[in-house]
Amino acid sequence: MAVAPEPGAVALLELRDVDAAYGPFRAIFGVSFTLYPGRVLALLGSNGSGKTTIARVSSGLLAPTTGTVWFDGDDVTGWRPFRYARLGIVHAPEGRSVFASLSVEENLALTFQRTRGRSGVGAALAQAYELFPRLGERRRQTAGTLSGGEQRMLSLARVLVELPRLLIADELSLGLAPIVVDEVYRTLERIRDAGTTLLIVEQHVQHALAIADDAIVLVKGEVAYSGPVSELGDLHARVLGVGGGTAG
Ligand code: ATP
Repeated sequence: MAVAPEPGAVALLELRDVDAAYGPFRAIFGVSFTLYPGRVLALLGSNGSGKTTIARVSSGLLAPTTGTVWFDGDDVTGWRPFRYARLGIVHAPEGRSVFASLSVEENLALTFQRTRGRSGVGAALAQAYELFPRLGERRRQTAGTLSGGEQRMLSLARVLVELPRLLIADELSLGLAPIVVDEVYRTLERIRDAGTTLLIVEQHVQHALAIADDAIVLVKGEVAYSGPVSELGDLHARVLGVGGGTAG
């Protein structure tokens, strides 16, 4: 668990009274929340409740129709996604595919040459293998022959080595075997411990709640609960109609 924010601390991410829509369809209504640096916020709610829409607004992929988005004290409403990326916001998975015919290490080295320069590749590879030990074990394997979960780890390793300021983890564990989900969560913990703030959208509610400090429960595009996980009680279970299993 992260420490409580200092009184007067500046929020890393803040949404104020945000509505967002897809054409005429309004997906979220009056959504407000504050995410302080170093903390982990879980977005919970049933299918279609607006979780991914909030994630997309938070990474600039979708502009609000009303309301404002703030990052580290600046109003960033309406900025283009690449400017959000430059602030150190990563929305993952980004759908970035791997080069199937290259090895794991060649895939990573290609990215790190671009982001770190040739001399930085060795150190970046070591960091990637520390974050994802399984990739280290499979460094010589052709990426196209990795399992789906391992390919997801490979594409994540390419962005996470740079330690984003804000990682929006959007259904990262979707379709992964439980053992791989555990590994993805261990990686999220390491990234959190290294100082990255996390916004998590997750089907596996118990996994999300185990790492989160705060939670938001959405019902039909509106915030039904916003506060510490410790005070959530069984609200999420009642809203989601589950004992916390796998409903989104
Ligand atoms: P899930 O857990 O099923 O992924 P979610 O809570 O992430 O759901 P969103 O994806 O944010 O929900 O969707 C919120 C609402 O917006 C849903 O009713 C959905 O059908 C609608 N919606 C999402 N994307 C679009 C789109 N591109 N065009 C039209 N409507 C959309």
